[in-house]
Amino acid sequence: TATAKADIGVVGLAVMGENLILNMESKGFTVSCYNRTVEKVDRFMDGRASGKNIIGARSVEEFVQTLKRPRKVMIMVKAGAPVDKFIEQVLPLLEEGDIIIDGGNSHFPDTIRRTEYVESKGLLYIGTGVSGGEEGALKGPSIMPGGSPAAWEHVKPIFQKISAHTESGEPCCDWVGENGAGHFVKMVHNGIEYGDMQMICETYQMMKEGLGMSNDEMHKVFAEWNEGELDSYLIEITRDILGYKDEDGNYVLDQILDTAGQKGTGKWTAIAALDVGQPLTLIGEAVFARCLSAIKDERVAASKVLSGPDAKFDGDKMQMIEDLKLALYASKIVSYAQGYQLMRAAAAEYGWNLNYGGIALMWRGGCIIRSVFLGKIKEAFDNNPELTNLLLDPFFKGAVENAQAAWRRVVSKAVEMGVPTPAISTALAFYDGYRHDRLPANLLQAQRDYFGAHTYERVDKPRGEFFHTNWTGRG
Ligand code: NAP
Repeated sequence: TATAKADIGVVGLAVMGENLILNMESKGFTVSCYNRTVEKVDRFMDGRASGKNIIGARSVEEFVQTLKRPRKVMIMVKAGAPVDKFIEQVLPLLEEGDIIIDGGNSHFPDTIRRTEYVESKGLLYIGTGVSGGEEGALKGPSIMPGGSPAAWEHVKPIFQKISAHTESGEPCCDWVGENGAGHFVKMVHNGIEYGDMQMICETYQMMKEGLGMSNDEMHKVFAEWNEGELDSYLIEITRDILGYKDEDGNYVLDQILDTAGQKGTGKWTAIAALDVGQPLTLIGEAVFARCLSAIKDERVAASKVLSGPDAKFDGDKMQMIEDLKLALYASKIVSYAQGYQLMRAAAAEYGWNLNYGGIALMWRGGCIIRSVFLGKIKEAFDNNPELTNLLLDPFFKGAVENAQAAWRRVVSKAVEMGVPTPAISTALAFYDGYRHDRLPANLLQAQRDYFGAHTYERVDKPRGEFFHTNWTGRG
């Protein structure tokens, strides 16, 4: 019809929706918008959208009529029931081949369910991760779409244009996989974000409490680290935070209460790992570290009762700072190796054909975990798409070898001084476990067989043959 001239429609005029619309418009697309509370449409049209190729719709019917076919309806409302509610509202107004896109932080099982449901109505569905917060949405986020494969060619030109791009011009957006794969990968991204943040926080505590460093000293160290292999958005903002003072000249950081919040995507990642039986230990520890931080009153009380060593460092401070850098780097490698292990297992479980190098590229820019490091992960999977574990890639194997002695010194020192480093320590424990051809699970199996007759396999017999011992009797 004459009114159908929008390339895409976005519903939900909160910060993410508005910014994505402005981003799309700035890249040459005509965008239609709608919001449940219609006054927000007027406010947006009179404000940030005024004079732009943006169409404000005051009803869902009008909204749908403004869209070119196949219609692309992108939902940017609060995750959960509101998404289902809007799908129900818009479905009867759409036609075969039209595409519903959910760009919120939906849980992947919901996306699996919604893809099946929308496809059963003859339409196509995309559930996409969008990372980078408000600024990313406006200037170029990392976009991780999954869902109905037939929908990809229709949204690809828009998504790859509005996404972040690497220095070499590649879009940080590619097709992830079937049904819930996009939201799964976004969830893992958020889990990795939890891990990266926790590792940096542990390094900060070692520097502050263990080495007695000032904010200014730490600011300088992080500035330096950001120039090398740790170059990343999270190191960069840590540098800035450590240097930031309020008008009175006080560091804001020192005034912030030490209780962490969480919205649940880290927890989802840890649960997904438990569901498919993968040792995602570092992200798990990062989630638990936030939980421990949150019981502040209990910790304050315990601090008056429980004792520990005096955190006095008497070694070579410069050496320890260098060691911390290497420990952080090695732990980060383990965390990404674990995240990729989880994605491999989930792909097998849910029938996704994931492009692992492509995922690293999508995370390379635009999102919170963006870093130079992800370029190396992309290279590892380009060199060997069948790579079992990142630790086995020659570059990362070498990097961990190079960092290993420093990493062990950091963990030993932290334990000795009583500074908690759950993520960095668990990463090392994982590395040591993963490289052992024999673990003490022989004893574990014996125990299981002893009390529960769970049987065991033998090293001198073929796999799949099970034995039981009468441990309390004899023969
Ligand atoms: P939000 O605060 O999560 O949601 C507000 C929007 O949802 C408003 O447009 C609101 O409409 C609409 N809404 C809420 N309940 C509704 C319902 N029952 N029916 C219809 N509309 C409903 O918005 P946001 O922060 O922009 O985030 C949007 C999505 O992106 C979320 O899934 C979020 O998790 C995800 N995300 C956010 C960020 C971020 O940095 N904020 C980053 C990545 C992803 P009304 O105006 O009518 O209330």
